[in-house]
Amino acid sequence: MTDLSLANLPEYQCFDCQGCAACCKGIFTIALSEEEVARIRAQGWEHEPEFKGIKLFMPYGDKLRLNHRKGGDCVFLNSDNRCRIHAKFGADTKPLACRAYPFKHIPTGEGVRIDLRYDCPAVATNFGRPLTALRAELDAMATEVIRGDPVEMAPPRFTEAIYLPWGHAARVTDLFLRLLAAEEFDLTTRVVGCVDAIELLGSLRVDQLDAPSLDILLNTIFQKATASMRMNPLERTAPPAMVLTAFRQHLCLYGREDRWGAKSSFFQRLLTYLRMVDGSGFVPRLRADFPKVPFFILDDPLGIPPDEVVEPIARCLRLRLESMGYFGPNFYNYPLLHGLGALFLTYPMTCWFARAYAVGRKLPAPDADCMARGVQLANHAYGISPVQNLPVERARLANLCKRQTLRKLVAWYGR
Ligand code: SF4
Ligand code: SF4
Repeated sequence: MTDLSLANLPEYQCFDCQGCAACCKGIFTIALSEEEVARIRAQGWEHEPEFKGIKLFMPYGDKLRLNHRKGGDCVFLNSDNRCRIHAKFGADTKPLACRAYPFKHIPTGEGVRIDLRYDCPAVATNFGRPLTALRAELDAMATEVIRGDPVEMAPPRFTEAIYLPWGHAARVTDLFLRLLAAEEFDLTTRVVGCVDAIELLGSLRVDQLDAPSLDILLNTIFQKATASMRMNPLERTAPPAMVLTAFRQHLCLYGREDRWGAKSSFFQRLLTYLRMVDGSGFVPRLRADFPKVPFFILDDPLGIPPDEVVEPIARCLRLRLESMGYFGPNFYNYPLLHGLGALFLTYPMTCWFARAYAVGRKLPAPDADCMARGVQLANHAYGISPVQNLPVERARLANLCKRQTLRKLVAWYGR
């Protein structure tokens, strides 16, 4: 029986919708259940003048999804950036995917945890009420979202071939939360410590240990990683050119604002991609508000960003770990250890995007606002893009997450 009780909600993360409608545009796909299709059909939209000659639904695998208008807006978004279904029939009649965003309910085998999509500006900037104040609505949504899916409740994989009990997965996750909370170090150093800890864990059969032995082992890794952070000052050395090229390709997949409809022409996407691969001249405009900025300037040393500046990415990493939303069905079915690598890669990605916005705003270095924008872009396609699940992208991600490569990227863009 699936345990649908909500685990502790983080009081440090806030959310209230700002009504910006960003989640009703772009590549967001609102897949519909049969009941939702029937409900929307019964609302009689085809008789409204705004829907003349426009299909409400499009095929999506063996389901239907909401159609988009030319330019990429959801077919139900009106010119005031309001949802027509919401305005006419109330919020409860919208598709579940719309009502659930930006929340993700993560069944962990030991209750349900809440992850958030940090591409939502309200989440990235920590706008609104603490999540603890939203417990009742998150609770009510849990049954609807999860439906006791047995696949999601299966024990998580640690590596490709090793499975862990959920309790072990929580203990391993807690090691990284402790390293991230070691505030005697700056965040860049803490992330490097996490990368080192991933490497140490990768060679161990943690599945063969009982809980007390695992705790002792994880404590030893914690001591080792913090001693290394203390004794080995982080060096900022340039990653090899091939690594930087692969990193820019990865950034392109996350930062580019793909849209359904006319604006998503294959040629435009290919051109942006090729310019990111090339890496000379100016960064292509990945999205409407992306600043005009030369590539080379983004590789300048900027020093260690203060904690108040990196707060959005520190909060994002913490919440994603606490929710355990970084592996399994929430991240392309990656095993836990590989999901950790991908999660910490979002740190240099966020810093790269934040640097671009800082240059665009004529700031000497990113401020917290630039960092929040960086978090949004680095999370834009996190775990939801079919392209990133292609073998070639999985292979690229695996290469970028190798210890020495990831260490260099973190230090290069994180200081
Ligand atoms: S992106 Fe976030 S703030 Fe904007 S409308 Fe969607 S949920 Fe609200
Ligand atoms: S149905 Fe409404 S809430 Fe959902 S994506 Fe469309 S406009 Fe946004």
